[in-house]
Amino acid sequence: MLRLTDIKLPLDHAEEALAAAIRDRLHVGQQAIRSYTVFRRGHDARKRGAIQLIYTLDVDVADEAKLLQRFADDPHVRPTPDTNYKFVTQAPTTLARRPVVIGLGPCGLFAGLILAQMGFRPIILERGKAVRERTKDTWDLWRKRNLHPESNVQFGEGGAGTFSDGKLYSQISDPHHYGRKVLVEFVKAGAPEEIIYVSKPHIGTFRLVTMVENMRNTIESLGGEIRFQHRVDDIEVETDSDGVRHVRGVALSNGEQIRTDHVVLALGHSARDTFEMLHKRGVYLEAKPFSIGFRVEHPQSMVDNARFGPQAGHPLLGAADYKLVHHCHNGRSVYSFCMCPGGTVVAAASEPGRVVTNGMSQYSRNERNANAAIVVGVEPSDFIPYDDSGSPLAGIALQRHWESRAFELGGGTYEAPGQLVGDFIAGRTSSAFGEVQPSYKPGVHLTDLAHAIPDYAVEAIREAMPAFDRKLKGFARHDAIFTGVETRTSSPVRIRRNDDDYQSLNTRGLFPAGEGAGYAGGILSAGVDGIRVAEAVALSIAAMHQAA
Ligand code: FAD
Repeated sequence: MLRLTDIKLPLDHAEEALAAAIRDRLHVGQQAIRSYTVFRRGHDARKRGAIQLIYTLDVDVADEAKLLQRFADDPHVRPTPDTNYKFVTQAPTTLARRPVVIGLGPCGLFAGLILAQMGFRPIILERGKAVRERTKDTWDLWRKRNLHPESNVQFGEGGAGTFSDGKLYSQISDPHHYGRKVLVEFVKAGAPEEIIYVSKPHIGTFRLVTMVENMRNTIESLGGEIRFQHRVDDIEVETDSDGVRHVRGVALSNGEQIRTDHVVLALGHSARDTFEMLHKRGVYLEAKPFSIGFRVEHPQSMVDNARFGPQAGHPLLGAADYKLVHHCHNGRSVYSFCMCPGGTVVAAASEPGRVVTNGMSQYSRNERNANAAIVVGVEPSDFIPYDDSGSPLAGIALQRHWESRAFELGGGTYEAPGQLVGDFIAGRTSSAFGEVQPSYKPGVHLTDLAHAIPDYAVEAIREAMPAFDRKLKGFARHDAIFTGVETRTSSPVRIRRNDDDYQSLNTRGLFPAGEGAGYAGGILSAGVDGIRVAEAVALSIAAMHQAA
């Protein structure tokens, strides 16, 4: 099989144009091509009105060796790599102690699935509820202002990505094609087939709910065990005669203890109490940069027109997205993050008396507004005013400070503080919405967001918005809406692990993974990290059994 990359065709090309483009590229006749499949389809929208589709195609040809020789110097004609997933080992027939996975977000889901597929019968402990019950609790905050601290946008089956846009792309380096395994498993669980080949796939929140349930059933059918409302409150650590620390078990909120030698920490970025517990138990953690800012909302039609011009609305293009970065005079960088085309801004707090924003959408992406986080990077040195103890958890103090401030500025009712972009730039409190209506539930309370984030971040965003407007016309329009605050862009800590066996720097048997440990950012990369860590756990257990 040959892989042809960078095949460009007009947006409205006929079906036969693909075969013709293959013949042209390879300089062969029709008989030489047995079949082809689309590996990836993206688009190049740099020329508004002349948007091109860009294909990567896998082609079964009659004389592959000869063609490879002829195109030896052409980087766009290569042998198709084998992207099929291969298990690194299988579980021994007798398993003394089962591995434990903490957290059932994308990372824990894939760690659990791969371990189950290899026969390791993992026990997966999730503090939140099963996804249907969790959905009810999440809506209880959005509709009735009742926050459930253990069952919300951050905690529960499916993890933080469940109420999301379900974007499934990532820029991680993935030489082992684990990302492909994630997508293939998602399709088996009910995701649309196109996620395998479109360059920027997304699933939308509605389908994600069914998919995580299906994946749970698969794990259970393979002997895995999933326990909801089972929060891990402690870990047992033993130090051997050589002074090496080993994890020996976990303690749950219901008082139960589970003995195990292998624990995957797939906690997500919001498990603040669990980070505190790990710190207290001496597990090596360090403070990590993250970002803080607001969600911005514009009409999706404005973004579509700015990006696609007359081809806006084309079914192959869908709702347009954007990605913006601006480097400011004060040395800070402002960037757009987690852009949700045709979606809504959501209440994403997990602690009482705090307000946090994020974004989600359905598969159709047909809500009126586009939203994205507009955020400014913060470094561990920025955490000092909030916690000067030198603790690796100081970033959490910064997050809590501004999330509490947002709660106050929103009126203390779980409404989020908001402001028109024009007023924010001009330094005026907003008094009325314009054409753009905010989508955040339970509501947006107009105020002055200059008091909602640190001064350097206010200054940076004020500078960045006009610069973004020059890149995407209308971005700084007066009645676009900022809603605050966005604080959970990534984990404020890193639970550092060894590069080779993925175990904690100072505690054997503990495998920090996913977004909470600082090793992923987003659904796909968290799933990929779950696979990596599952393999490391499996190899470690297999080695222990061989040695015994
Ligand atoms: P999480 O998904 O956070 O899962 C961690 C799990 O661990 C949680 O379920 C939690 O309850 C559980 N847990 C924590 N502590 C304990 C404990 N002590 N005991 C037991 N269980 C525990 N990313 C994208 O790629 N595309 C998107 O479109 C997208 N949209 C998003 C929209 C929203 C609203 C949010 C909040 C996030 C979005 N993200 C998106 C980010 C993405 O969801 C995360 O990057 C991803 O979920 C991280 O996966 P994870 O498994 O590492 O952690």
